[in-house]
Amino acid sequence: MAIKRVWIEEGCISCGMSEMNCPEVFKVDDEQDSSTVIEGVDYSLYETEIKEAAESCPVDVIKYEES
Ligand code: SF4
Repeated sequence: MAIKRVWIEEGCISCGMSEMNCPEVFKVDDEQDSSTVIEGVDYSLYETEIKEAAESCPVDVIKYEES
């Protein structure tokens, strides 16, 4: 099982925690006022960090798909 896809659902409050946990994958977009997922990254290299970010998100909007 490897993480193939990561996304953020509606409701992000831009707290910055995901970017702090894993700046290789998450970036707060000030214009959108939401965190975004950086594209073109091999997410399988950051599985622990992505899972930790998802668990730490205060509004539970970080989702990922393993395959
Ligand atoms: S931890 Fe959750 S609420 Fe905070 S910036 Fe990341 S996605 Fe948004």
